[in-house]
Amino acid sequence: MINTRSLTFRLAAWYFCTVAIICALAATGYWLAMRSELNYALDQGLRYRLIGLREFLKVVEPGGDREIAARLNDISPLGELNQVFDANGALIAQSQGLARHGVSPQPPRGLGFDIRYSTGGTPDFPLRLAWQRVTIGSHTLILGVADPQRKFEGVLGAFTTVLLLSMPFILVLATGCGLWLGRRALAPVARITDQARTITERNLSARLAVPDSQDELQRLSETLNAMLERIEESFSRTRQFTADASHELRAPMTLIYTAAQHSLRRERSREELVDSMQKILRESRRTTALVDDLLLLARGDAGKESAGLELMDAGPLLRDAAEQAAAMAAAKDIRVGLELAPEALPVNADEAQLRRLLLILVDNALKYTPSGGRVTIHGAASPTDVTISVADTGPGISPDDLPHVFERFWRADKVRSREAGGTGLGLTIARQIAELHGARLDVQSEVGRGSLFTIRLPKPAWDPARPWREVI
Ligand code: ADP
Repeated sequence: MINTRSLTFRLAAWYFCTVAIICALAATGYWLAMRSELNYALDQGLRYRLIGLREFLKVVEPGGDREIAARLNDISPLGELNQVFDANGALIAQSQGLARHGVSPQPPRGLGFDIRYSTGGTPDFPLRLAWQRVTIGSHTLILGVADPQRKFEGVLGAFTTVLLLSMPFILVLATGCGLWLGRRALAPVARITDQARTITERNLSARLAVPDSQDELQRLSETLNAMLERIEESFSRTRQFTADASHELRAPMTLIYTAAQHSLRRERSREELVDSMQKILRESRRTTALVDDLLLLARGDAGKESAGLELMDAGPLLRDAAEQAAAMAAAKDIRVGLELAPEALPVNADEAQLRRLLLILVDNALKYTPSGGRVTIHGAASPTDVTISVADTGPGISPDDLPHVFERFWRADKVRSREAGGTGLGLTIARQIAELHGARLDVQSEVGRGSLFTIRLPKPAWDPARPWREVI
């Protein structure tokens, strides 16, 4: 069964139509050219006949009109259609053939010494005629020669038949060739399709064979392979993420389980029970925080966390963050500073998300900065950007670790981070929020001197007269 929707079939159909149109145009052209050539040949023949007749009459002219008539009548049975008139147009002689077909013995008016062609004869026997006024010796004569117009009709007919008969043959051949070419051209595509079909999530590392043909098919295979590469990467990231997430969840769950089991194993004092319950509560909180972070990331991955951006001044947000940080830092003896430009910091942002992003950075700064250190929140605007940064005088991040800080579950020191309540997802979430705002989140750090996290938000076109969302 031929699949009429297949590319091969459609290619063949297009090929057929194109060839049919080209053939029809070419055949019409050939036919017209042939007809014009045959007409030309007819006229040329008549021209030579006129010359011949003139030469013939040169020989008989001395004998006068009678002699001319007699000699023409002699050659008339040969079938040539000739007629001769005197200078005034009076008929001297006419071949029997012309007389039989009722050709009026009348030369055209105003005939000169140049050859003139005309058509005549009867509807059943159309003629092509050539005329010329000639001077032979002392005589001026008008010569007329004729040929049946259908003289070459047979040739034209045969040519037409050949053209018409060859047409279906050419078209069938062209369709066959079209199908064959289509199949041949698309065979590598079918091969690629077959290969691609064998690649599933089980063998995502398999790749398509790339033909060294420097053509579209090579590019197609390379593009598909690059796509497979990306899919494989994303798959392995997802797998890794699932494994890491399970691992991260397992630790607090085990602690909760063990604490509960320990409490129930035998009779416990109230203090022991309270201690166990506190452990359970702490680990439950950690689990909830982790699950919340995981959900947030998953929603972000699915593109559901697209921020509802509104034009607002980021200044009050930074002030809030500084106040919050100061309250959190008090116990740890860390100084919190706020360097805020006097002018407004217009940003297109989702307030809650931007707050969360700031909180992650401030929280990390406080978490990793030892007592006596300093955390500074900074906000400034340039003509194109609004820059918000959080700097600390903490231990810094080593150059080897720096590229990993935004990775999921990555922590320079797992134990320390866990103890401080970290999940290893904070900076991942922070970068995701930044990206949703079309912003960049970067880090600079020097071991022993501290870290600087910078958010660079695009500055929206802002009309001071236009009211913006009040940050409460
Ligand atoms: P965590 O929950 O562990 O803080 P994050 O994703 O927020 O997870 O941070 C990842 C890791 O980056 C942290 O474990 C820590 O090693 C490092 N880090 C983040 N912020 C800082 C900082 N201000 N100073 C030093 N190290 C930091």
